[in-house]
Amino acid sequence: MTNVYPPMQEYQRLIENNRRWAAEATAADPTYFSAMANGQQPMFLYIGCADSRVPAEVMTGLGPGELFVHRNIANVVLPSDLSAMSVLQYAVDVLDIKHVLVTGHYGCGGVKAAMGTQSYGLVDHWLGPIRNVVRWNRTELDAIEDDQARFDRLVELNVLEQIYHLSETPVIQQAWARGRRPLVHGLVYDVREGLLREVARDIGSQEDADRLDIRRLAGPSSRTALAAADEELAEHIAARVAERLAGAMR
Ligand SMILES: [Zn+2]
Repeated sequence: MTNVYPPMQEYQRLIENNRRWAAEATAADPTYFSAMANGQQPMFLYIGCADSRVPAEVMTGLGPGELFVHRNIANVVLPSDLSAMSVLQYAVDVLDIKHVLVTGHYGCGGVKAAMGTQSYGLVDHWLGPIRNVVRWNRTELDAIEDDQARFDRLVELNVLEQIYHLSETPVIQQAWARGRRPLVHGLVYDVREGLLREVARDIGSQEDADRLDIRRLAGPSSRTALAAADEELAEHIAARVAERLAGAMR
């Protein structure tokens, strides 16, 4: 999108938009904001990419108060991510949300970076889990000749992998143990046409999630590669710990 505003007005127009929006909402419903101030009861937790082209509420036709949101680069769900886990726990245990939407998007810069070898700095660490998805699905991805189709497929596989991560969190495990809530859905937003594509839906148990486990689906060779990689990582960590201990005792 071409920027037609002088620098000072780029920001000012946001404030003006806000005044106009608030006035219009109040004119349409004088109790709109007083009702909002009473608290939130969203039905959906949206976990998506930080990309500016993916407007969570706009594309799902939802308004304020309906979508609890967590966004990061390439919609990664990691148990070690305190921010994501806090959002998840609060959404499930306190807000009692009914659905979790793990939403990727075609054309995702984070996923594309994970496919290549170029370094982008700190974000390379963040994209590690997606590099694993590439590794585990090397056979399927390499068989796709068209570059765009291969990129699209990795975006879908990444969503499935993140749903699997989600299914392994204690918050979701405990919620499912109490009943089949929340239901987890996997979506990919197509920035080229504005449509959401469903890649998984109604995941409400570990058995459902196991059916999506791309490491398992990718076959024995990937499992071997995964086991070897895990072993290598464990050895590396053990060596570093031993080094530190030796250093501390000196
Ligand atoms: Zn993205």
